[in-house]
Amino acid sequence: MHEYGVTESIIRIVEDKAKEAGVTKVTSIHIVVGALTGFVPDCIRFYYDTMSKNTIAEGATLEFEELPLRLRCRSCADVFEPITREWKCPACGAPEIDIEGGRELYIKEMEVS
Ligand SMILES: [Zn+2]
Repeated sequence: MHEYGVTESIIRIVEDKAKEAGVTKVTSIHIVVGALTGFVPDCIRFYYDTMSKNTIAEGATLEFEELPLRLRCRSCADVFEPITREWKCPACGAPEIDIEGGRELYIKEMEVS
């Protein structure tokens, strides 16, 4: 249910930006979501429909760009997407891994009219 809070933030950011820019209607919002965030786009859409009522952002189309989990090997700096739950470098086999991507959550762009 943490999508509720996220949707609230998305709407707040969109409203602020729209006001800043003197825009009265937002037609679409492009949101980037990393796999590690666990956020379900359909769930955000569901809340959005209700929560955006009577705001500048009401009726805007939500477009999601989902980014995969990406890991980086500490030994050879290889960046890869893990296929199994075992986080091990496919290039050199080292088990020391850092998270390179997948935690993203941000509004990439908005279309307004
Ligand atoms: Zn490696």
